[in-house]
Order: sequence, then C-alpha cells, then structure tokens
Amino acid sequence: MISIIAPCYNEQDVLYDFYQTVTKVMKENQYSYEIVFVNDGSRDQTLSILKELGEKDRRVQYISFSRNFGKESAMLAGLSYSKGDAVIIMDTDLQHPPSMIPRMVEAFQNGSDQVIAKRNRAGESKSRSWVSSLYYKLINRFVDVQLEDGVGDFRLLSRKAVDSLLSLSEYNRFSKGLFSWIGYKQEIIEYENVSRHAGDSKWSFFSLLNYGIDGIISFNNKPLRLSIYSGVAVMVADVFYVLWMLVKIFLGGVDVPGYFTLISAILLLGGIQLVALGVIGEYIGRIYYETKKRPHYIVADDNYTQVSQSQNKI
Ligand code: UDP
Ligand code: MG
Repeated sequence: MISIIAPCYNEQDVLYDFYQTVTKVMKENQYSYEIVFVNDGSRDQTLSILKELGEKDRRVQYISFSRNFGKESAMLAGLSYSKGDAVIIMDTDLQHPPSMIPRMVEAFQNGSDQVIAKRNRAGESKSRSWVSSLYYKLINRFVDVQLEDGVGDFRLLSRKAVDSLLSLSEYNRFSKGLFSWIGYKQEIIEYENVSRHAGDSKWSFFSLLNYGIDGIISFNNKPLRLSIYSGVAVMVADVFYVLWMLVKIFLGGVDVPGYFTLISAILLLGGIQLVALGVIGEYIGRIYYETKKRPHYIVADDNYTQVSQSQNKI
C-alpha cells in the first residue's frame, strides 16, 4: 500500500484538482493507496473541502492542525499517521507532478528506500534560482550532510526510511538534511519544473532566509568554529599591530594621536564579537527549544478514528 502525504496551507483553489489528478494516477495503476492530507492551519475553505473529500472517499484521510505549524511539522504529522509500505510526500499545488508516481513506485519495487524526484529550475524567477544555487554551494561546504540543488521534499520513502525519520525527535526539523542523514539506498529521477497551479507560494523572502539558516545551523557546529577562527585571526593580527606600533614609538616618538586606527580596531573587534555572539545565541536558542520538548504540532480535528493513541502522540 502507498500513502500519499499532502501538506496543505490555504490551498482551496487547487485541492480538487490535486485530489482528482492523484486519484486518476493511482486508479490507473491499480495501486492500493491512501491520501493523507495535513491541513496546516489554513484560514480558507481547505478544511471543509477535506471533510467533504473524506466523506466521499474512504481513501482520503485528513489531519487538521490547531494553527499553522509549518510544512516541516505537517510532513512529520503525515509520516506518523501514514500506514503505507511506501510513502510519497507531495505538495498540493501540483508542482510535484503526480505523473511521476509510477516511476517512483517502480524504483521502490526495485529495492530503493528513497526515491528522490529532482526538478530543474526552469520557469522559476532568476533571482530565486540564483540565490538557491548559491545557497546550496555554501551549505555543502559548511554542512556535514550533502544537499542537492533542485531536490525538495517530493520523494518516496520506504516504511524503513519513514520509521528512521520518525525516530529523530528534534524540534527544529530540517527535512532536506534529515532525509540525507538517514541514508539508505537512494535513487534520483528528474522532472521538469512546473509553476504553481493556482494560489500563491507560501514562502516570503524572510521565511526562505530563516529556512536557509535552519539548514546550516541544525546540522553542525562549523559556524561556531568559524567565528572562533576569525576571532583568533583578528587577535593575532592585533598583537602584531601593537608590537609594530611599540617599535615605532621607541624609535621615533609618539605619532599624531591615532584616532583612525583606534576606531577601526574597535569596530572590527566589535563586529567579530557580535557575529560570534549571534552564532552562539543561535545554538543556545536551539537548545532552549529542544529542552522544552514541546510537541511538533497539535491536532484539532481528523478523520482517523481507528488510529492508536501512541501514534497520535508522536
Ligand atoms: N505548506 C504548508 N505549511 C506552510 C507552508 C506551506 O503545509 O506553512 C504547504 C503548501 O500547502 C504546499 C507545500 O507546503 O502544499 C509547498 O508550499 P508552496 O507551494 O507555498 O512552496 P513553494 O512551492 O513555493 O516552495
Ligand atoms: Mg509550490
């Protein structure tokens, strides 16, 4: 059995289309399947559409959050509610073409535990694809796991891989990194980028920036080390500078009062200290969130009467 996991946040305009397209593909291929919709605190008609679909089609399951918890939490909820032998995570805006499903399932049947659908960036705004590719170059240099440009959350996971993901309980989830971290046999298949079917992208500039920082911080402590290195480098340079000034003073007497050098040294050091503090603060912030052990999401409503209590609590 295959579980399709579809996080939705204000997706009333595309939900029917998504449901119909996916259902068509699944029926044509005679898969046994369920579609797990996760309503991530939508403020539009998303939930009532899901309820309606759930009544009409017993293969439609939905979970509805009490507020917007973000796509990461929505995917996690979908994973922990899903029952399939393989799970496919898909966006509901049809940017992840359902026509890829048969190829993904085939790769799964041939023994892959993760089948990753990789898109090219055709049709995306120049600035966004430029920033993204720069980001991936940077992150692969700094981070312990390898991430690939164009690889998103659209993928098939075997039950084994899902269970491994669910065993990682960290609060700050960066799925792209976690997918790569758990390992297993992977296969990549490519597809053409499509633009959103209807509705708007839920990512603002700042949410992308925050997502980017999460990716770097949640995987290692290299940024912390980097700030230590740069701090040491500046201190060493400073010591040499002071020695050189002392020699000059002994040989030629006191110069014009060095206002400029003084102020530039203060600024440089101040800057480095702030960077270092910021980096340390980021890590402490993470520790703070992790120690609270809050749940990743709160379910306000669902049509899972048969789900066991333990599954509900993950
Ligand atoms: N999404 C979500 N919670 C959020 C933001 C987005 O569940 O807080 C869902 C959204 O409904 C969609 C998917 O995540 O199914 C991808 O969102 P979007 O299309 O806005 O992102 P983009 O394709 O622009 O990266
Ligand atoms: Mg999208």
